Amino acid sequence: MAIYTCGHTTPDSDSICSAISLAYLLNEIKREAIPARQGELNPETEFILNKFSFKAPILKTQFKGEELFITDYSDKGQAPKDIDEAIVVGIVDHHKLGDITTSTPLECWIRPVGCTNTIVKEMYDYHRVKIPKNIAGIMMCAILSDTVIFKSPTCTNIDIKTVRELSKICGIEDFGALGMEMFKVKSQVQGVSSRDLILRDYKPFDMFGSAVGIAQLEVVDLSLFDDVKEGLLKELEAFRVENHLHTACLLLTDIIKEGSEVLVSSSNIEVFEKAFEVKLENNKVWLQGCLSRKKQIIPFLEPAFK
Ligand code: MG
Ligand code: MG
Ligand code: MG
Repeated sequence: MAIYTCGHTTPDSDSICSAISLAYLLNEIKREAIPARQGELNPETEFILNKFSFKAPILKTQFKGEELFITDYSDKGQAPKDIDEAIVVGIVDHHKLGDITTSTPLECWIRPVGCTNTIVKEMYDYHRVKIPKNIAGIMMCAILSDTVIFKSPTCTNIDIKTVRELSKICGIEDFGALGMEMFKVKSQVQGVSSRDLILRDYKPFDMFGSAVGIAQLEVVDLSLFDDVKEGLLKELEAFRVENHLHTACLLLTDIIKEGSEVLVSSSNIEVFEKAFEVKLENNKVWLQGCLSRKKQIIPFLEPAFK
């Protein structure tokens, strides 16, 4: 039986690229594996796969009775609906430990680094498997994406060292330029509906019994949102009500100014205000220095629901 490698719902570049890089590694060590994805590719991921000539992994949302190697998450909220009926054989991830449990022993590679692909690189080294050029390329791009070209507080020296090694393997020395090119693709928001923008990089969380959704858009210039911000806020409100969320946030992250404007819709806005010790103005607030949902939003917002 083949093992499916698959990342989280609303997949980002790390989820897609780690499914591909991990499946290649497993096949090399004689464990048949097929990369899969739980949702549509975002424009950045499409750019990366095109650049290194990869097809999208197969779209798959049901894993009942199948062997599954999870990448880039360990929360049930981001898993396929039938996760309890899947056979989870492994997890490779760089987030806080989630609530997925297994009935059989599993292989676990979880580290506090900036990207799942950084850990997949460690797995290649552990198994002494040579990384092909094009696999190195997508792994490198995923790390540049997740670490916001090393600017995110989630970035570690291991991520930087790994990018340097991968850049040598794939033959792209100026990885900074490639990173910027990627973020320019990511910044294309014109002509995309507000709902699609909210869902582009969206994660649902259970915070002490309260349903919370946090979306993020990382761009090279926040003024791109000037004309669509009010529309985004309205749509965020509609999205929150429809999905029975206590709070829905959308981070508009400016990777050059290194901060985020957070749009908030909530059944009790004070929870957010208390968590960050801020006052929202028209449901918006600028958080200077905030680039990471994982390190700079969740650890503050979650305890506020206790
Ligand atoms: Mg991810
Ligand atoms: Mg990741
Ligand atoms: Mg991200």
